[in-house]
Amino acid sequence: MATADNNGSTDINDIKKHLEGKIEKSVIVPEYLTGKSKMKFRCYPGIACFTKCCSGIKIFLSPYDIYRLKKRLGMTYDEFLLTHTLQTVIDRSQLPVAVMKMKEDETRSCPFVTKEGCTVYEDRPLTCRYYPIGMGIMKQFDKETGTNFFIKIKEDHCLGHNEDKEWTIDEWRADQGSDVYDAVNDDWMEIVLKAKTLGMVEFSQKSLDLFFMVSTNLDSFRKFVFESRFLQAYEIEPEVIEKLKNDELELLKFSLSWLRFTLYGEGDFKVREDARKEAQARRQAAMKVERKVVGPEI
Ligand code: SF4
Ligand code: SF4
Repeated sequence: MATADNNGSTDINDIKKHLEGKIEKSVIVPEYLTGKSKMKFRCYPGIACFTKCCSGIKIFLSPYDIYRLKKRLGMTYDEFLLTHTLQTVIDRSQLPVAVMKMKEDETRSCPFVTKEGCTVYEDRPLTCRYYPIGMGIMKQFDKETGTNFFIKIKEDHCLGHNEDKEWTIDEWRADQGSDVYDAVNDDWMEIVLKAKTLGMVEFSQKSLDLFFMVSTNLDSFRKFVFESRFLQAYEIEPEVIEKLKNDELELLKFSLSWLRFTLYGEGDFKVREDARKEAQARRQAAMKVERKVVGPEI
């Protein structure tokens, strides 16, 4: 149901070492898997280990996870973030993200687990959907071949591996609805994986703040778009603007593709010429102020 950390390493031993420190008694099966690889697994209410995987874990929350959970709980983004999340940094990057705040009981259990199972099952996070597949490297590619791969996690307490039901990884993802989450999160995953695989990319504090805001709080992003000079800075069709006003999921997808554009210059956003010139003038003015502080202008 839920376990693996979000790791973007390209080396399986590296991944194994990283995850073993974080998942008690875990076994990362040392092989790369593809969408066509097969595994035997079944998880169902009534299995002896039911809900054992829902405590003592770290669940990173993707933008679509937060969107689905806060909607499910009828909360605002601020309320959800305050009640159910903590902030952490994605390994080997400076990127700040939200993780689920676990209960402070003996086993650090998930706030949504009961004896009957997950109370937010239809909207459970992506990490829970992928398990026992490591979600952290699901879109990671091998540097030489560029092929996506996955890993399998076999923990002692998880009896689902003893079942006979056989799946390909792709069938498992579709059955669990992970593919829908992946499609919405696509631009965000590209940002994260690029930050990790390119090594330590240096982001400014402003970029990191933007990353966190867009990754976790669509209410803040909405204000940013509609209550700042954002719409004057980009060429955006009026019908797209209308859609963004009325369709929260469209706004989420837009926010993630804009984030990718603003951090890496990838995508087809068009900056208005006057906005570009204004920004350039502001940067030059700021440089002059800076120069005045350190010494006279020549
Ligand atoms: S969200 Fe649901 S599936 Fe995920 S850890 Fe919590 S109770 Fe388990
Ligand atoms: S089979 Fe594995 S995933 Fe399912 S409830 Fe048991 S421990 Fe969790």
